[in-house]
Amino acid sequence: MSEQALALVTGASRGIGRAVAETLAKQGYKVVGTATSESGAASIREALQAVGAGNDAIVLNIADAEQTAEALKAFLAEHGTPAVLVNNAGITRDNLFLRMSDEEWNAVINTNLSGVFRVCKAMVKPMIKAKAGAIVNISSIIGTTGNAGQANYAAAKAGLEGFTRSLAQEVAARNITVNCVAPGFIKTDMTDVLPEAQKDAILSTIPSKRLGQPEEIAGAVAFLASDAAKYITGQTIHVNGGMNMG
Ligand code: NAP
Repeated sequence: MSEQALALVTGASRGIGRAVAETLAKQGYKVVGTATSESGAASIREALQAVGAGNDAIVLNIADAEQTAEALKAFLAEHGTPAVLVNNAGITRDNLFLRMSDEEWNAVINTNLSGVFRVCKAMVKPMIKAKAGAIVNISSIIGTTGNAGQANYAAAKAGLEGFTRSLAQEVAARNITVNCVAPGFIKTDMTDVLPEAQKDAILSTIPSKRLGQPEEIAGAVAFLASDAAKYITGQTIHVNGGMNMG
């Protein structure tokens, strides 16, 4: 990189987002990671500044439209326009459809789908002005396959992939790519909470016979963010140990 490019990674306090933020920082990006709490932001700052002094962290709650607009306005004023935006933050609220509450449905759609819309709303205009950029949205294998107990999550991730393809068409001529990485089952807090029996059942469906590591998702994100991927847009790269090859 000729000059240090800026990367914004949402949900960088742990799991996949943390691995993405650290991978990009090690590659020479100036990285700003986000967490929903001050203590989460402090832990990101400490981890990223061990890699490079310019790295930083902010508090961001993408489920809250007002807080997101304010936090990202302040981010743009302090750090400038990101060359790379990674929309990673996400939640699960699993339940079988017949038992799924409005709250469970709305929380997942509001965070995993509307949250990405909000962050893009704040970032795409300055990226268009900069005439460059790469947006990588973290989807899920579940957006393609569906999953019993995850109607809300599957709908949000399938929606995210449709959103990605639409935004990609709107900004391609402005030298901005928009893609998804769709992880399979990755070892993070999100999957640690699953019952052992469910984890065993999942493992039996993975040809690689193991859960993925967050760094294995970060590698795909870093590729899509790089100049080597400048002609790839509107795509979803699946990283799942062969769990779904369709
Ligand atoms: P995780 O370990 O549970 O971490 C979630 C991250 O999102 C945390 O940094 C969390 O911040 C942040 N976050 C949650 N709600 C937020 C909100 N309202 N506003 C801003 N940030 C918020 O999850 P993960 O497993 O790394 O998953 C990361 C992404 O990968 C998600 O989009 C998930 O759907 C996707 N994914 C994961 C898997 C998997 O197997 N793990 C598979 C497919 C897709 P705090 O720490 O502050 O709460």
